[in-house]
Amino acid sequence: MKPNTIQKVTNWGNFPIVEKVLKSEDSVEKIKDFVLNNNEVIARGNGRCYGDASLGENIFSTKRLNKFIGFNRLDGVIECESGVLLSDILEISVPYGFFLSVTPGTKFVSIGGAIASDVHGKNHHAEGCFSESLISFKLMNENGKVLLCSRNQNADVFWATIGGMGLTGIILSATIQLKKIETAYIRQESIKAENLDEIFQLFDESEDWTYTVAWIDCLQKGKNIGRSILMRGEHATLNELPSTLAKNPLKLKKKWMPAVPFYFPGFVLNAFTVKLFNWAYFNKQRTKIVKNFIDYETFFYPLDAVENWNKIYGKKGFIQYQMVIPKEKGKQGMKAILETIANSGNGSFLAVLKLFGKNNPNAYNSFPLEGYTLALDFKVNKKLPTLVRQLDEIVEQFGGRIYLTKDSMSKASLTNYLNNVHNSKFVSLQHKRIINGN
Ligand SMILES: Cc1cc2nc3c(=O)[nH]c(=O)nc-3n(C[C@H](O)[C@H](O)[C@H](O)COP(=O)(O)OP(=O)(O)OC[C@H]3O[C@@H](n4cnc5c(N)ncnc54)[C@H](O)[C@@H]3O)c2cc1C
Repeated sequence: MKPNTIQKVTNWGNFPIVEKVLKSEDSVEKIKDFVLNNNEVIARGNGRCYGDASLGENIFSTKRLNKFIGFNRLDGVIECESGVLLSDILEISVPYGFFLSVTPGTKFVSIGGAIASDVHGKNHHAEGCFSESLISFKLMNENGKVLLCSRNQNADVFWATIGGMGLTGIILSATIQLKKIETAYIRQESIKAENLDEIFQLFDESEDWTYTVAWIDCLQKGKNIGRSILMRGEHATLNELPSTLAKNPLKLKKKWMPAVPFYFPGFVLNAFTVKLFNWAYFNKQRTKIVKNFIDYETFFYPLDAVENWNKIYGKKGFIQYQMVIPKEKGKQGMKAILETIANSGNGSFLAVLKLFGKNNPNAYNSFPLEGYTLALDFKVNKKLPTLVRQLDEIVEQFGGRIYLTKDSMSKASLTNYLNNVHNSKFVSLQHKRIINGN
């Protein structure tokens, strides 16, 4: 996107779309002018949130805040500007044996966005959210003042900003701690589960694994509800790596990246094609369990392998609905959610189930609660708001909440865990929706 001109701006779901100027600067003085001269400002990283969280009246894009400030190759501490992407960090850190402590399902996320959403990965039950590896950041507040924030300095702003969805100011740069790895590979096991009881049991049995995630066929009904495949993994050590991979353990070959060249017509994704996809995905694994070594890109970022895959949902776009249900009611809640989806016929061909561990009480704006979280993609159509409302009711009934960074139409009451971020000039479309109670 070209900065500083009026243009259509939208996030990963291509819904909603606004026509606004996207301002981008790389000097603190110019960013300060922008903040002081506008009443409503919101920061935007790489637009990988799905809905309206980084859209607003005056959008500040961090695209030009893309420089590294320092990288200590001995202890894995890295400092960079907030527009640097996780993919940029991995490119320089993996060859030195360092990996992100927590990574979401795409590496095309900026550091600012990772902090503002306090993103989680497949290891929340074991290693928490992104903020666990965050040492400090610099934030421009509504007066144009730059604050250094950490657990010891401006700690109140530090914690409000983590998961604060850009509503406390613009993160300019950050320092994070990376974790040590011996190889760029993951020792993975994929296990098929025939139903919800089995997949919940597999999650329980896999609590000692660092990474767990399940793909789930959300169109199954009756005794097959919850049919899924659990993937669990560990960073492979040098000793256990097969000799063919051990020659160059920290280097991955560059892969060709196919792209979706245009928006698919609306009819391409429908209940039938989603059913077909789900059948093929479940049956491509022939045995109950498969054990192998795969590179970190394939394990963590399978969706990044196809550029612009979001276009398959067509021009009207799609939403991602991600909720968490507390652990003790997890199975019951998921059953109700999956039944509602299967009966609606509004299939999601991407449905991902994960386990969250205990949340850090200091990071009060972070989305996770101890329990199960399910993320589903739905094409935007006339029936969607009704389905979302039905799902919202179930989430509310089971004491759950909605992930703000994916949200664009949920009930405000499910997103009201956000605190100490109001009454500022940093305002997004999402924030306005929440305040208005929509
Ligand atoms: C394919 C895919 C998979 C994903 N998987 C996961 C997952 O597994 N786990 C997970 O947690 N998330 C996941 N996400 C969501 C994504 O990680 C978050 O939405 C993330 O915040 C996007 O970062 P961004 O840089 O694109 O920021 P944007 O999308 O541009 O903005 C997101 C939020 O961050 C704020 N923000 C951005 N930059 C700054 C800044 N410099 N200062 C202050 N506020 C800022 C914005 O105001 C907005 O509220 C996924 C997204 C996609 C597309």
